[in-house]
Amino acid sequence: MSLVKLTGEEELIRLIKLLSERGYKLIGPVLQEGVILYKEVGRDYRFPKGLKEIQGKGYYRVFKGGEGYFSYVHGFYSPKHFLHPPTETLLKLEPSLKQDTAIGSEPLALIGIRACDIKALFILDDIFINRNSHPDEHYKRRREGIFIVGVNCVYTGDTCFCGTMGTGPFIEEGYDVSITEIGEVFLIRAGSERGKEIVEQLRGEEASDEHLKKERELIEKARERTKIDMDITGLHQKLLPKLESPLWDDIEKRCLACGSCTMVCPTCFCYEVRDEITLDGSSSTRIRSWDVCFREGFSAIHGIPIRSTIKARYRQWLMHKFSYWVYQFGTYGCVGCGRCITWCPVGIDIREEVKKLAS
Ligand code: SF4
Ligand code: SF4
Repeated sequence: MSLVKLTGEEELIRLIKLLSERGYKLIGPVLQEGVILYKEVGRDYRFPKGLKEIQGKGYYRVFKGGEGYFSYVHGFYSPKHFLHPPTETLLKLEPSLKQDTAIGSEPLALIGIRACDIKALFILDDIFINRNSHPDEHYKRRREGIFIVGVNCVYTGDTCFCGTMGTGPFIEEGYDVSITEIGEVFLIRAGSERGKEIVEQLRGEEASDEHLKKERELIEKARERTKIDMDITGLHQKLLPKLESPLWDDIEKRCLACGSCTMVCPTCFCYEVRDEITLDGSSSTRIRSWDVCFREGFSAIHGIPIRSTIKARYRQWLMHKFSYWVYQFGTYGCVGCGRCITWCPVGIDIREEVKKLAS
């Protein structure tokens, strides 16, 4: 799939129209209440231009003054919100009706998705479909029709560490169309047959070697910025003997067990399922909602929590991401998006905690 076109900004508008004409429900980055979020948008959607985002430990601000269309990375929403939504009705039962309410008929086009979040989708695919002896039909149906328009990160956030986790900033796979912004122009690349069909419709010339070289240079600079001083080779094994480290006591003094980190994480997948039955017994609704391992009751068996301290719950979260996940699913559970650092109200930085534990 080697089609790469050099286009101008008007072709970004055309790209959206082409997707809309093919019946996709469009989800794109939108500035709302001071955060850039992925939201449903219409066929007249324009990528927000001139925005700049600053992310730090427990800090997020959006400003005007960005140099182009993609001088930010992401807010707290990730593709997870659309494929494994925070709450959904799985089933509605009435005496004469058994209705499976899984959403899935309307294919989604996820627009402006970054490399780390595409890797996170692969992780969710393993959990819900590929490594699951009972594939999740709700997730699977949404996932099947999805069209991904990725953006290669030339700008990076200060909490990003995809360069270390090997998940970005360039999108290698899992996309239909990708965009790289190079000054005033864009390289639009096809990553699938469906993507190729769209890219062929766009006006522009085939990208020159010079533009491809410029793209590589920008991406390499971005990759360097997202590398931290940590080698992840064998990290899952290095962490295992650290279960009784005094560092967990130190984290307990700071962590609020609010669970914000799990909510924003693009790979956290835990959920609870409950039945809501009307008092007269005429109907019952089965609802699935995200659950959080920082909740005391999360680990309760017969009402008794297994992880009754915050220290135990934080340890479970970090060790799952960077150690147990590898044994369960064959990859780390972290893609280095940095959201848990940005959106932690007390600024706990998972990069620092892992580095301290691994040293
Ligand atoms: S690490 Fe931060 S975001 Fe996560 S539960 Fe603790 S205080 Fe909340
Ligand atoms: S653990 Fe933190 S940095 Fe890693 S994927 Fe989750 S939110 Fe992103």
